[in-house]
Amino acid sequence: QAEPAPSSGGMLGRLFGRQGADVVRRPLDDDMLESLEDLLITADMGVDTSARVTANLAEGRYGKRVSTEEIKAALAQEIARIMEPVAKPLPLYPKKPQVVLVVGVNGSGKTTTIGKLSSQFNAAGKKVVIAAGDTFRAAAVEQLQVWGDRAGVPVMTAPQGSDPASLAFEAHKKAEADGADLLMIDTAGRLQNRADLMEELAKIVRVLRKRDETAPHNTVLVLDATTGQNALSQVETFQKLADVSGLVMTKLDGTARGGVLVALADKFGLPIHAIGVGEQIDDLAPFDPEEFAAALTG
Ligand code: GDP
Repeated sequence: QAEPAPSSGGMLGRLFGRQGADVVRRPLDDDMLESLEDLLITADMGVDTSARVTANLAEGRYGKRVSTEEIKAALAQEIARIMEPVAKPLPLYPKKPQVVLVVGVNGSGKTTTIGKLSSQFNAAGKKVVIAAGDTFRAAAVEQLQVWGDRAGVPVMTAPQGSDPASLAFEAHKKAEADGADLLMIDTAGRLQNRADLMEELAKIVRVLRKRDETAPHNTVLVLDATTGQNALSQVETFQKLADVSGLVMTKLDGTARGGVLVALADKFGLPIHAIGVGEQIDDLAPFDPEEFAAALTG
């Protein structure tokens, strides 16, 4: 009669088989290390990071008998160690308005994240203005207005097809006149035409700097965790298009593939400002490395 497997919920359940996983102790040999590395790759941690983490785990344990719980704890510790330096909330500066440029491919969760962040800052007593900088997608502007209403934050818009840079300029003027603390600027995410997008983002930055030469103060790349390894190439692409200063990882509620965050942290070391954990306005959480590592290793 089959018993429910004690550790099969997380990624390590499979390594020790389904039964008695918590009590079995096996020597940590090459076979086990290879299986472990495969599991990490399956969990989207990427080939390089998986190899490095596995090698670190083997140190001091190679050839010794280990239990699932020991491996799990060591793995969680190793992952938390990689993630700790990148767990940093969006830094706030005394600059008024602080300009936050939000970039990312369409569908990654830019609009939703701007709404959630604005709501949090608003609740913390910060005055926020949003600029709907994806002027080509009427639906994007409408969605942002809905989120602005929810967050209780004004949204500056411009007619469809108009220049996002002039909207950014006007929005900065308004934000300054209103004494706003933060100006959040949405941008287009059409990666199909990178040269256009690059020019568009560069122009927004150029024009903003006419009003404040230190702007934008943050360039936040929004990434969808469910895209797995694709998130890595999106970082590379957007680093060429803009001066990315930090990340928000969305849709971590619906995926067991959050391992890509470990690969991202290991490879780029960019701050993770927050994680999206649902579609509602309060579903944005600070990134907690230990909680994340525990959930990932299950
Ligand atoms: P944009 O095109 O980058 O502006 O993306 P949107 O903000 O419109 O988001 C695209 C879709 O992802 C929408 O259906 C959102 O509700 C959904 N979404 C965004 N963030 C999250 C999240 O953290 N969790 C979940 N489950 N869905 C999200």
